[in-house]
Amino acid sequence: MAIEIRGGGLAGCALGWRLWERGIPFFMTGEARQGASWVSAGLVNPIAGRSLNLTSDNRTAIQEAKAFFHQVEERVGRRIWHECPVLRFFANEAERQKFERRKEAFGDWLEEVLDESGYPGMGDAGAALIAGGGWLDVRAYLQASWAFFAQQNQAPGAGESRLVIHCGGSRDLTTGVLATLESRPAKGEILTVEVPGWGESRILNRGGWVVPLGNDRFRVGSTYSWDHLDEEPTEEGRSELLTLLRQFTSLPCSIVEHVAAVRPIVRRSEPVWGRLGEDGDTYFFNGLGSKGCTFGPRAAGDLVDQLEKDKIFPLKSS
Ligand SMILES: Cc1cc2nc3c(=O)[nH]c(=O)nc-3n(C[C@H](O)[C@H](O)[C@H](O)COP(=O)(O)OP(=O)(O)OC[C@H]3O[C@@H](n4cnc5c(N)ncnc54)[C@H](O)[C@@H]3O)c2cc1C
Repeated sequence: MAIEIRGGGLAGCALGWRLWERGIPFFMTGEARQGASWVSAGLVNPIAGRSLNLTSDNRTAIQEAKAFFHQVEERVGRRIWHECPVLRFFANEAERQKFERRKEAFGDWLEEVLDESGYPGMGDAGAALIAGGGWLDVRAYLQASWAFFAQQNQAPGAGESRLVIHCGGSRDLTTGVLATLESRPAKGEILTVEVPGWGESRILNRGGWVVPLGNDRFRVGSTYSWDHLDEEPTEEGRSELLTLLRQFTSLPCSIVEHVAAVRPIVRRSEPVWGRLGEDGDTYFFNGLGSKGCTFGPRAAGDLVDQLEKDKIFPLKSS
């Protein structure tokens, strides 16, 4: 039986690598240049969100993800992971104090608490310099993975039975095989801009983020909306993101790209996977939400572990 991964974004590619590591043949269908992954900024931020919850689960997921991306780099011979400090601005004194109280839990992720952030427009509550994060060049990762898999795998002949693992992201959740699952997909927009002479080399985070890509380019994101789940960039989105950028710099900027896509959210960013129906040969892997880079690699490994345990893979080579 052939294994088909249907949809090759962050979910499908992570699953592909996990199968490849175990010598289980598979092939991918769909396209690399589509969906949420293709527009994603690839950000991995160890201390994200207002709750400041850095659970040990998040910590290990981030460590596993980084190790996974480094392994992929070795296999494809191309750099995809960019380690980069995150400068997180405190919204106010109360947030700063909350942060200070949790200092110990953050351990070595927290490099320094700064009284002066160097950005006067951000208020005077200061900022935290966070280590251990960075960004995945998602497009490079997807393209390199697709090319690598295409060299190794063959689609089965007509009539050969296949086990399908649906990795179709928000499309599966809205109109596809998971349309009956309760979910909350969210549209997001993102800008790539050029700001000559800015020179910022850290990821900036406050109610959104700016990611330095090098060569005066920055990614600015991202919006959230639940009304129109399409992939059309809007005027409102552009203006919201430019306002976000203007909090940090008033230097002239030009827009290089403006894109939108829908995040596959089921329960926050908790991945979901399983069998569709009681006894079919159809599975799904979805729900990476806003954190496909952090949680994708581990969840894909867990899914393959389970499928092996259930003796689902008759084609495993020794
Ligand atoms: C604006 C924005 C910014 C984001 N920023 C970040 C970030 O900084 N860090 C982070 O970790 N995450 C980020 N995310 C979230 C991340 O992009 C998602 O978690 C991730 O892309 C989900 O991956 P996926 O493979 O499940 O879905 P997708 O990337 O959407 O991939 C699904 C693929 O399946 C294809 N497909 C669907 N149906 C079929 C079918 N029937 N047959 C074949 N193919 C099919 C689709 O065309 C698509 O290519 C962001 C998302 C958005 C929208």
